[in-house]
Amino acid sequence: MTDTDTQKPPRAIGKSRWALIIFLFVAASLLTAYVLLRGSTDIRKLTEQVYLIQSTSPLFPHGSNSIAVQTNNGIVLIDTQLAIWTGRVNDAIVKTLGAPPSTVVNTHWHTDHSGGNDQLTEAADIVAHENVLALLSRPHEGFGLTEPGSHHTYDPREKDGLPETVYDGLLTLAPMRSGGLVEIVHFPHAHTDGDSVVFIDDEKVVAVGDIVWPGSFPFIDVHNGGDAIGLLAAIDVILARTNPQSIIVGGHRDPTTQAELAAYRAQIAETIEIIRTAKAAGKSLAEITNEGLPGQYASLSGDTVPEATWISMVYQSLE
Ligand SMILES: [Zn+2]
Repeated sequence: MTDTDTQKPPRAIGKSRWALIIFLFVAASLLTAYVLLRGSTDIRKLTEQVYLIQSTSPLFPHGSNSIAVQTNNGIVLIDTQLAIWTGRVNDAIVKTLGAPPSTVVNTHWHTDHSGGNDQLTEAADIVAHENVLALLSRPHEGFGLTEPGSHHTYDPREKDGLPETVYDGLLTLAPMRSGGLVEIVHFPHAHTDGDSVVFIDDEKVVAVGDIVWPGSFPFIDVHNGGDAIGLLAAIDVILARTNPQSIIVGGHRDPTTQAELAAYRAQIAETIEIIRTAKAAGKSLAEITNEGLPGQYASLSGDTVPEATWISMVYQSLE
């Protein structure tokens, strides 16, 4: 009898053990993704009867913003944030203001602004521009949440997630307790074709959705009516209506001032002119992307909208 005869063959891992290992690996990955996505939510007072609710997480360090406004007809919530955060947004409002929102405004269709509609629709009327309802009611093209520029086809939204009240042009909500106005204004071709900007308490606070991304190139949803030139026009109207004391709140990142928005508008306009001039000289998108923008705009190139994505969105807007 040799040594090898007495050695047992190595035990193969059985099918069921492999299944368990794979299950544990997938479960751990999902749990990690959930923890990285979940993050935290804070609420703070901006002015009398106007509150900012910000959620951030390791996966979305620039987070999402909502605004809550106390009006004569209950609390108006502007944007639901991602569905995973909507419950916390609602809880923060109930805890601080004593009641859930009775009106929800979607500044546009993107899921990080309207994804939690179905969680709030029982207590609240969901309001948006008519193009948001039209888009969410049919299969629609959009971008993937994590990859800028990537395509994703969204199914039509379930009825509970759809806006119930739509408007075109201008919609005035119930006034604030102070008497200040809450006006929703449509901007036809900016970040999307269904952008609403909410002027609150006579411009003391302005919720601009994703028309303004402070400190970063903005995203233009060119698949759904967004347009870089229209976005500039929208910023011009916002600048004209606001004053040095106005608090301008984008859908992401910290609020900005009128002076900061004017400086941002200038930078965005300059980059559009550079791309327009290059395109008019016959340069292709690939050539312009390859050359890049002058170094002074490098700080605007962000994770969500890197410089190449911005050049591509502007190039398509100029077609
Ligand atoms: Zn958006």
